[in-house]
Amino acid sequence: MLNQTDTSILVIYTGGTIGMIRDEVSGVLVPFNFENIYEQIPSLKKLHYQLDFHCFEPLMDSSNMTPEVWESLASIIQQNYEDYDGFVVLHGSDTMAYSASALSFMLENLNKPVIFTGSQLPLGELRTDGRENFITAIEIAAAKDDETPLVPEVCIYFENQLMRGNRSVKYNAENFNAFRSGNYPLLANAGVYMNYHREHILKLNFKKLKVHKKLSAEVGLLKVFPGITQAFVNSILNSPGLKALVLETFGSGNATTEKWFVDALTSAIKKDIIIVNVSQCITGRVEQGKYETSTGLKQIGIIGGNDITTEAALTKLMVLIGRGFNVSTINNLMQQSIRGEITV
Ligand code: ASP
Repeated sequence: MLNQTDTSILVIYTGGTIGMIRDEVSGVLVPFNFENIYEQIPSLKKLHYQLDFHCFEPLMDSSNMTPEVWESLASIIQQNYEDYDGFVVLHGSDTMAYSASALSFMLENLNKPVIFTGSQLPLGELRTDGRENFITAIEIAAAKDDETPLVPEVCIYFENQLMRGNRSVKYNAENFNAFRSGNYPLLANAGVYMNYHREHILKLNFKKLKVHKKLSAEVGLLKVFPGITQAFVNSILNSPGLKALVLETFGSGNATTEKWFVDALTSAIKKDIIIVNVSQCITGRVEQGKYETSTGLKQIGIIGGNDITTEAALTKLMVLIGRGFNVSTINNLMQQSIRGEITV
């Protein structure tokens, strides 16, 4: 049995609601000094793990997240990879699903836990959900089975649920239960006991970590809606430098059959723009060809995104383009699972 104090966790604090307290004078929410974390959460001392902290400077609201910040995050994990058993990333919930997805694609051969968490109410508030999220995220990052990490992948832990990061979406702006993994089972439930669903957790591969830090920003997102105009679609497809587009469609991958729409997408594909069809629904998958309203999309070479989330599709494209793959390789990889992000 491993001594708990032999387990070391690096907590990377990027910002977001979790790290806020109410300023006693002005009453506004301000980031608190992490050096005082043990005063905020005295029960952390009971964990007996070696906990170290890395705080971003400046701290950020996650709505300001960028690929450059993901690069820094990946570098911190890379530089500390051998020295820690696991990583906890404290992050605003707004873009947490994007960040967790991006990191999953950037960290190839990850064999240690990287657990994102945050909260809906600041740590300094009486009813905060941050305390439980934070402590349990540390427990998960430290959890081992026969001296090997139990959850060697990028995850989101929020309100008793552990989800694969690249399967998660934020779907509720107010409930403590803010995230959902609509197309993949939970990796663990936290109750009186931690109940890990091992059959759904990625296996260790014992290969050396490779970090892909270069991300392309030449990607876009187009959500279709009834009444969408030709001018609007054309302006998106003719954005300078566009290399890939996530097309968010209705239901199982359907969109208008208007000729101008299909023609616009066809000419984009002829210009080597990669188009991936992702559903606007949180649960279910794209099945191009099921209805007449998606048959045309399949015929012109749009990639069916199956059950991938928009967050995962966008960040996967950013990483694959950044890695310098050609269009046909990216088309193939978008239909394969490289980090458990899609059901094949
Ligand atoms: N706006 C905040 C953020 O995403 C909300 C949160 O932390 O949950 O940084």
